[in-house]
Amino acid sequence: MARVALVTGAGRGIGRAVAKRLAEDGCAVAVNYRSSAEAAQALVEEITAAGGTAQAFAGDVSDPEAVKKLFEDVKNALGPVEILVNNAGRTQDGLLMRMKDADWDNVLDADLKSVFLCTREAIRNMVRAKWGRIINISSVVGLTGNPGQANYGAAKAGVIGFSKCVAREYAAKGVTVNCVAPGYIATDMTKVLPDAAKQAILSGIPQGHQGAPEDVANAVSFFAQDSSSYITGQVLAVDGGMTMA
Ligand code: NAP
Repeated sequence: MARVALVTGAGRGIGRAVAKRLAEDGCAVAVNYRSSAEAAQALVEEITAAGGTAQAFAGDVSDPEAVKKLFEDVKNALGPVEILVNNAGRTQDGLLMRMKDADWDNVLDADLKSVFLCTREAIRNMVRAKWGRIINISSVVGLTGNPGQANYGAAKAGVIGFSKCVAREYAAKGVTVNCVAPGYIATDMTKVLPDAAKQAILSGIPQGHQGAPEDVANAVSFFAQDSSSYITGQVLAVDGGMTMA
């Protein structure tokens, strides 16, 4: 699969595993980062040492100008983006009664506006090429809700609605748009949770344990394949059974 893939927020966590996996699949990978410059460079070196192709690109994906520049930089260095993985995200938890405007705006910007900005930037070339894969990282919180995460749940549910609209818009143009909804995955994002919260989450997972970033990367890789061309507008939970209907 010799395609150009851009993974947002790929210096660490799930994004890092996705970038590594897509490089193993044969893609030339653009490793986007906002603050983790060293980690992004280390990942590029790891991929390159293994015989793959990767390059690191700075850019806050919630900033419209930075997104424009990011896509321009990737195009000049590797070519137009053919596979876009909107992975960048953050949390800023708190009960609704105490949620500040900034808690809402920061999370909506990083988790939802970023997906709009990057997808809008990517879509024109994909339509022109009659081939594209957009894979958006949502969350089980966008499916089921979670107390203390009204901002994050709204953003992640928004990602699903957005993905379905765009999937319908470009379905006949060779572009698929799908979501992966991770459950409880071992990254910096979940490391900081209080022990009681970790136990409560684990007790709701039929498989009884946390997932690894690579579990999410496997699902992203599946949607990115040529052979997944008839699958669009879907949400695949990677959650050890947490959200079974
Ligand atoms: P993480 O370890 O905290 O990493 C977050 C990543 O997002 C970092 O690489 C960070 O980049 C990047 N990022 C945040 N804001 C950004 C911005 N404005 N521009 C560019 N990059 C930005 O989190 P993670 O667990 O890997 O999460 C990855 C995605 O999976 C997120 O969308 C998250 O909501 C989702 N998710 C995670 C879990 C879980 O259990 N871990 C569950 C469901 C969904 P820098 O370090 O360079 O700043």
